[in-house]
Amino acid sequence: MKIYRSVQELVGNTPTIEITHIPIPNNCRIFAKLEYLNPGGSVKDRLGLSLIEDAEKSGKLVAGGTIIEPTAGNTGIGIALAAIGKGYKVIFVVPQKFSTEKQTLMRALGAEIVNTDTSLGMQGAIDKARELVERTQNAFSPSQFSNPANPYTYTKTLGPELWRDLDGQIDVFIAGAGSGGTFMGTSTFLKERNVNVKTVIVEPIGSILNGGTAGSHVTEGIGMEFLPTFMDRSYFDGIHTVSDKDAFHQLQKLSREEGLLVGSSSGAAFYAALKEAEIAKEGSHIVTIFPDSSERYLSQKIYDLFMEEK
Ligand code: PMP
Repeated sequence: MKIYRSVQELVGNTPTIEITHIPIPNNCRIFAKLEYLNPGGSVKDRLGLSLIEDAEKSGKLVAGGTIIEPTAGNTGIGIALAAIGKGYKVIFVVPQKFSTEKQTLMRALGAEIVNTDTSLGMQGAIDKARELVERTQNAFSPSQFSNPANPYTYTKTLGPELWRDLDGQIDVFIAGAGSGGTFMGTSTFLKERNVNVKTVIVEPIGSILNGGTAGSHVTEGIGMEFLPTFMDRSYFDGIHTVSDKDAFHQLQKLSREEGLLVGSSSGAAFYAALKEAEIAKEGSHIVTIFPDSSERYLSQKIYDLFMEEK
């Protein structure tokens, strides 16, 4: 019998697909790891699992303890999933603007949600979470924005899986950055294997990596208001700052032409992959991550936004 004994065992080992219907410039090939096929529906299920395991091992999380974390949603779903069956109390601090679907799923997995004012940004949620940790007994905050376990999760899992799936034939790696854990951790592994892999980071307009100022964007899950301590700019071989319109047009194309029901951070990553294909050596292998699914954003009319500008 091939039977799984817990939902946590289903995390990781997601499939990698080649984009075959949308024309790719320069005879390049674009491959995408379908992270939305994780059981909690995103790339952050991997992080939830390793943050909890790490905290249990180090003794920071004790039996009956309370997990408190500021999160835009997917990390929360990943943590809540990882905590299932373990008897912890889970509280997430979420800026109001984030999709109600994610907040509903976090509650469905047993978590309590504390909303903060959207105008205070992610920093508002981080400050509120710190305050809650201080006044809660046996509280533990995984602190994804400063915890080196965040990138390390991807160095241990996503990097090796991509290397295996592509038989090491990777020229360019592209990933969007929210906390930056996925990009940093995976890039670390790939460059260790082959220093010539070009590692390219993606952000929406309204994020700071290319010298811009923090501002609002519709693209959800990526975008930085500050550079987390574990980020190392020497890995930024390229930076793409993608407009909401371009991200949404690409995700709409990915559903219609490839049957891939992905969220806006996937759209932004794919837009950047097409741009890299234009400048890459002919026939290059470009690999990216599709972090979550569009079903998470149906209330935001993900398939109708920016349509009129086509
Ligand atoms: N895309 C989506 C939809 C996400 O939720 C996240 C995590 N916030 C990312 C991309 C970026 O992941 P990371 O935090 O590892 O940079």
